[in-house]
Amino acid sequence: MIAHNLGYPRIGSHRELKRACEQFWANKITCQQLEDVGRQIRTDNWLTQQQAGIALVPCNDFSFYDQVLDLSLTVGAIPPRFQPLLDSAEPDDDHLTLYFAMARGYQQNGLDLKAMEMTKWFDTNYHYIVPEFSKDQSFTLLSERIFTQFDEARQTLGVVPKPVLIGPVTYLLLGKEKDVDFDRLDLIDRLLPVYEQILSRLQTQGATWIQLDEPGLSLDLTDAQRAVFAKTYARLRGQFPDLNILLASYFDCYGDNLNLALQLPVDALHLDLVRCPSQLDDILQTDFASKSTQLSIGVINGRNIWINDLEKSRQTIQRVVNAIGSERVMLAPSCSLLHVPCDLANETAEQGLTPEIKQWLAFARQKLDELATLTTLFNDPANASANAVLAANQQAITARKESALINRPAVQNRVRQLTEQDAQRNASFVDRQAEQHAHLQLPLFPTTTIGSFPQTDAVRANRAKWKKGEKTLAQYDDFIRQETEQAIRWQEEIGLDVLVHGEFERNDMVEYFGELLDGFAFSENGWVQSYGSRCVKPPIIYGDVHRPEPMTVRWAQYAQSLTPKPVKGMLTGPVTILQWSFVRDDQPRRDTCLQIALAVRDEVVDLEKAGIQVIQIDEPALREGLPLRRENWAAYLDWAVRAFRVSASGVQDRTQIHTHMCYAEFNDIIQSIADLDADVITIETSRSQMELLDAFARFNYPNEIGPGVYDIHSPRVPTTAEMIDLLQKAGDVLPARNLWVNPDCGLKTRHWPETTEALRNMVQAAQTARESI
Ligand code: GLN
Ligand code: ZN
Repeated sequence: MIAHNLGYPRIGSHRELKRACEQFWANKITCQQLEDVGRQIRTDNWLTQQQAGIALVPCNDFSFYDQVLDLSLTVGAIPPRFQPLLDSAEPDDDHLTLYFAMARGYQQNGLDLKAMEMTKWFDTNYHYIVPEFSKDQSFTLLSERIFTQFDEARQTLGVVPKPVLIGPVTYLLLGKEKDVDFDRLDLIDRLLPVYEQILSRLQTQGATWIQLDEPGLSLDLTDAQRAVFAKTYARLRGQFPDLNILLASYFDCYGDNLNLALQLPVDALHLDLVRCPSQLDDILQTDFASKSTQLSIGVINGRNIWINDLEKSRQTIQRVVNAIGSERVMLAPSCSLLHVPCDLANETAEQGLTPEIKQWLAFARQKLDELATLTTLFNDPANASANAVLAANQQAITARKESALINRPAVQNRVRQLTEQDAQRNASFVDRQAEQHAHLQLPLFPTTTIGSFPQTDAVRANRAKWKKGEKTLAQYDDFIRQETEQAIRWQEEIGLDVLVHGEFERNDMVEYFGELLDGFAFSENGWVQSYGSRCVKPPIIYGDVHRPEPMTVRWAQYAQSLTPKPVKGMLTGPVTILQWSFVRDDQPRRDTCLQIALAVRDEVVDLEKAGIQVIQIDEPALREGLPLRRENWAAYLDWAVRAFRVSASGVQDRTQIHTHMCYAEFNDIIQSIADLDADVITIETSRSQMELLDAFARFNYPNEIGPGVYDIHSPRVPTTAEMIDLLQKAGDVLPARNLWVNPDCGLKTRHWPETTEALRNMVQAAQTARESI
């Protein structure tokens, strides 16, 4: 039995790739220097995997930005606007300028090219660059990287590596049609010749295995789409009878694509047994044993950071071995390790992860060791060191189950005792609205912002100094107080109606709360690629969540003390905190979410007690938590909505609860958004020029709503006229008394000059709209 890997983190264990890319973009290093960093990371990764005992090491899992973009470049799917860069390409940089232009846009040499769109990779927090396909799309082999990196890996390893490529059908599924009247899957016949060229060259170079990632098989597919899979793999098989093809899907069950997957003429099928343990039995119940297809058993979680229960995995593997024989089994992580941090060994800081928590964690490097141990336990059951590792692993698993760090009976009881009433405001929205209007006395089209104001260099520098101990807490607090006061004065001056304190004290909307809650831990180096050079360091929720003391009341109260106008309390909602963290795997996500909801609820109640009349609970991640398959949506939405309602329902009717969501497809979850029953929702709409609002209008969305009237993602200052126009459009489809006026999202990434100008124009737009009614 051998272990293989589906992919390894490529940012480097100290984010070397991030630094190098950003320096290259700033013209501080040359293309050659960037290439050197890339090669070094690849070499380290390959050797690390080989030394850990991985027999089939992946190559082509490296990328300077994104693996989908790499493939678009490789197969020559270059949107027409980038043609000038294609024409002017330098022969020796293998289209690096074009590549980064597609990812990030290009404004040089008289060209102004918009970047390609970016969206989430399945249900992960990783974003890929969406391929753009035209009706007359052609494909041609454009980049040599996959071939040079194969040779590079082979030389480094001294054995044949396994190239990884996104499969042709999933590649097309991930893209977007730029013309209206065609189906991108129809492009398969034009795409396959390029794949065949790639496979054929790799085979000539010596490749024996190729991994084709087809996570599209985890989605709901039509019969026609399934037929494309069947046709594609029949054709590839026919062309490459001697190349071993490993087909990998992950992140969910094959589900009703299982029969299709089992019939595809491939040499090995990968199973994500973490997300879908049940499919193992489904497969073993078929005549699978009588075939020769190998199974790649994804037993190690590639999406989370907990140690594997090696004994449990051993039993699973044994079951497969008993059914089909060990020579047909390969061990693997459930998916690429791209989604977990690099190496727990880099967690050395004293204030960082405690030894007790660390023994429960495995990052990418440690997951390789787990794979190796499991392999050894099968190939050499008496192996002393593997058995010692197994024993220690079982001890850590037991210790984790019983740890006082994790278990807070009071929290568990509170979740168990939650009632329908706890998820329900006292009065209906209509009655609350009347009370809130009487109490808050806001004008028609009230103006507000989403929470954060520019996190200037000074704000960041002060926080960094405080963290490093170069400033005392008192000094840091003083600084934050000044920033907050300035923000309040300034909001009063321009005439906003509902003010915010500005979130100057926050590093990040999830991390800030995680740091103040029990049950959360923070790594020092646990970075995971989010997109391009951007990395995130998700908090680790390891235990029952508990709020030891109020988290935001002090700042909210201070800000409110400065002004007679209402200041919004500002909280991150339970679903978003859950979604952007590594979540414990020893209880359902739902239960963890409800624990967080209770902590937020207590904060909401405390804010109300402290005199805060308007409280916003941000839930930008509600939509992205949706399961991949529709059949699982209802169950998720049910608990997610409930968690929000639990967090929001502890207050009196006259306290106004806001929520905020960033850009998302709202159409298909509009009922659930209404079910949140927030008094006011602010949403990002300006990108689609209020089209999104139609979804709310068609649904007769009952509560108040603030469609963002300007796009905060760009430094461009919107004119008053533009915003009046958007307001009018909103007023055409929704009742005026329900409308708020606000930007699209928080302003933390903006600078003050454009922010002040834009908000002045916005207040002016609201004023004009009021007068015209
Ligand atoms: N209140 C947060 C802010 O303004 C909301 C951010 C978000 O929606 N992602 O920054
Ligand atoms: Zn937002």
